[in-house]
Amino acid sequence: KMAHDPFKVERYIMGQMGGISILNAIKPVVDQEITKGNITVLLETSAVDLMQSKNGDITGVITQNKEGRLMDYKGHKVIIASGGCASNPDLYEELHNVPLYCQMAYPNSQGIGLILGQSVGGYLRGGEKYSPLYGMILTDDKTPSTMYGITKNIIERPPWEVLVNSKGKRFIQEDHESVDAIEHAIMEQPAHRHWAILDQNMIDEMPQLIYGWTNKRIMTESKKQNMIKQYGSIRELAIKSELPALSLESTVQEYNDNLENNRDDTLGRQHRPLPIEKPPFYSIRMSGWSLCSFAGLAINKNFEVIKPSGEPINNLYAIGEVIGFGATSGNAYVNGMGVTPAITYGKLLGESIRTI
Ligand SMILES: Cc1cc2nc3c(=O)[nH]c(=O)nc-3n(C[C@H](O)[C@H](O)[C@H](O)COP(=O)(O)OP(=O)(O)OC[C@H]3O[C@@H](n4cnc5c(N)ncnc54)[C@H](O)[C@@H]3O)c2cc1C
Repeated sequence: KMAHDPFKVERYIMGQMGGISILNAIKPVVDQEITKGNITVLLETSAVDLMQSKNGDITGVITQNKEGRLMDYKGHKVIIASGGCASNPDLYEELHNVPLYCQMAYPNSQGIGLILGQSVGGYLRGGEKYSPLYGMILTDDKTPSTMYGITKNIIERPPWEVLVNSKGKRFIQEDHESVDAIEHAIMEQPAHRHWAILDQNMIDEMPQLIYGWTNKRIMTESKKQNMIKQYGSIRELAIKSELPALSLESTVQEYNDNLENNRDDTLGRQHRPLPIEKPPFYSIRMSGWSLCSFAGLAINKNFEVIKPSGEPINNLYAIGEVIGFGATSGNAYVNGMGVTPAITYGKLLGESIRTI
């Protein structure tokens, strides 16, 4: 299932069981090597430091187990593959200049690999490639908050609602064929906030808006959840949603007028099933969000961690999200560009250092 703009040419195959298909392919091979004694797995043990010789070469790793016991592991080739920092709000904001609005990544994505790589002379790049995802309904105003619900994007469902920003203005053609274009427009909005504005007819007739929710649930949530409001007029809805009332009124008026008079939509939207006219009216406040770190350790084409001068740090390699999601996906969410390169680069690196 694609969550973002489809590729024009086929680029990857998705396992029928998603991630489990990948596990089923890799686990038997790893298990075999464990049985042969070629791999030792240390569970509930963290890499906490790198050993570095006086000449700057990496010579091993220091680990700590859950009892707090430190161990040294000497090695000729040390690979950092500890993922990103999207569960570490302070580091995330520092590297991307954007708050971690929603906590969605794995709890172990603390960015320790980023810190270890830097501690021996490596540097980070790519934070400026940050791009928000669409449609997160946050639980509250904390930073980071947690997921309360996620609205479906254009790939899953043509929009019935109108999207506005904190000025009460529409800012993107809601049925734009590119989710990427919509997400980049969200990036331009204050705090990456966007509101869906709907009326009762839409609630009654539209296809499911929020994953796992009936549309009726939007009505009940509006009585208790702060991000969802329901009021009898657009003016009151705007005031309670902290949107400029006159501006939202004129946005809705213009949308309705164009539709009712068979005029083109101001932003070129084609899918306009209903006007926003039957009270009560609803607003759903959504936030941009992310689950990956765009920033990561700089590496060269051999996956060696490099210094700002471009010189590699001997015996230190990095692959996976620790090199930055931006390194493989750019300033966008390209389908599969987190997992696929993590696995592929791991294989390429493993094959190349085995022969050194
Ligand atoms: C909810 C969610 C959905 C996603 N959906 C997609 C998708 O559809 N397609 C896609 O391509 N990508 C997706 N991603 C991104 C993708 O999962 C990651 O980019 C990818 O898993 C990165 O692989 P990795 O091996 O580098 O890191 P991870 O998968 O994060 O693995 C890193 C491992 O290192 C361990 N670790 C961390 N610190 C240490 C330490 N100090 N010592 C020892 N071990 C440590 C962690 O426990 C973890 O097991 C998604 C991410 C999330 C959170």
